Amino acid sequence: MKTKNLSLKIVIALILGITIGSIFNMFAQSGFVVNVDKYVFNVIGQIFLNLIFMLVVPVVFVSIVLGVVGVGDPKLLGGIGLKTITFFLTTTAIAIIIGIVLASVLQPGEGKSDLLNSDDVSSYQKTLDKEDNAQSSAANQTFDQTLINLFPKNPLQAMSEENMLQIITFAIFIGIGLIMVGSKAQAVHRLFEQTNEVLMYIVTMIMSVFAPIGTFGLVAHAFTGAGFGAIQQLGMYFFIVLLALFIHFFVVYGSAVKFIAKTSPLRFFKGFLPAITLGFSASSSTATLPVSLKCTKNMGVRPEVASFVQPLGATINMDGTAIMQGVATIFIAQISGVDLSLMQIITVVVIAVVASIGTAGVPGVGLIMLAMVLNAVGLNPAAIGIILGIDRLLDMTRTSVNITGDAACALIISKSEDKKLAAKRDN
Ligand code: ASP
Repeated sequence: MKTKNLSLKIVIALILGITIGSIFNMFAQSGFVVNVDKYVFNVIGQIFLNLIFMLVVPVVFVSIVLGVVGVGDPKLLGGIGLKTITFFLTTTAIAIIIGIVLASVLQPGEGKSDLLNSDDVSSYQKTLDKEDNAQSSAANQTFDQTLINLFPKNPLQAMSEENMLQIITFAIFIGIGLIMVGSKAQAVHRLFEQTNEVLMYIVTMIMSVFAPIGTFGLVAHAFTGAGFGAIQQLGMYFFIVLLALFIHFFVVYGSAVKFIAKTSPLRFFKGFLPAITLGFSASSSTATLPVSLKCTKNMGVRPEVASFVQPLGATINMDGTAIMQGVATIFIAQISGVDLSLMQIITVVVIAVVASIGTAGVPGVGLIMLAMVLNAVGLNPAAIGIILGIDRLLDMTRTSVNITGDAACALIISKSEDKKLAAKRDN
């Protein structure tokens, strides 16, 4: 992937998509706009998204198997796993705290109590009442079920349902099996390596041929449908989420990359730009995975680390989502006239960490999982209806943050385990 040229083309497509989509949004009632949006923007965007999604399950499966074999030692893998989870939890907690502090200081819900009586709240209440929604039942899953569900009964079903955690578990077992069986399974190992080559070739091809036009379609469609009217009403909330996302992105990840991985943040952000822009247009950490993996490998992150850390991160590490959940909870408390106690705020931090872990890396789920946080502190989850209309644009931005957190973690762990992994390889 010629990253520089491609990044430039994608950024131009992004700007064009935002501009044309925003102009179209002003004429949203016109038949011409409706048709172009439906038959051109949406079709181009969805085809591109499907092409990328088509690769997610095979890329995740194959790269995790190779990652485990590459590490070569289940103990070392355990150490990497522990460091990864520690990084994920710490950065997610920092993310929520940034969101909560900004929202408490800037008070986006001040004087907006009338929003609670809006139609948005009652119609979201109806959605909640139905409860047949798969994601809302995911929000209600108990801890024991979550634990049991990490282990697939049927790996093919896990793949067809795109259940990332189950795919990861299965891939780890296959990887460990390959290490243990050793030379007797050399052909299988080679097969995985060669499949990986082919998949990476396809990722490069799809990105270089389709990414600019696909990005344009996705972004133009999102902005044509974006609720700009609602943004005016919820301007302060919107601004605070964005501000917190920017702070987390540049300050927290920038310093982690600079001081822990001893790498230039500029180089890191630039190298990861194709994934950042794709995350923004697709609003899906999962869909972005094949490209995220490619970007970090180009940056020199050890493939055995990247292929383990990033798929796990795309599934459980959602700092951008956590920021939105923190700000949204404080915002909803303010419009409801509820003063959250310190204990309740601590509860928000803890539950939002759990909720963001439980958020699937697809569009809009973070908002559904917000219900879990609101319930925990006695706020009405139907109030989510108020921010629903403007969530798409925030979802795009927070997805870019989510995947950048995974990449920063992969870079840091790759650096810190470099010597051990190199020694293992030389053995
Ligand atoms: N769209 C986000 C992601 O894929 C999840 C969310 O916050 O809704 O990372």
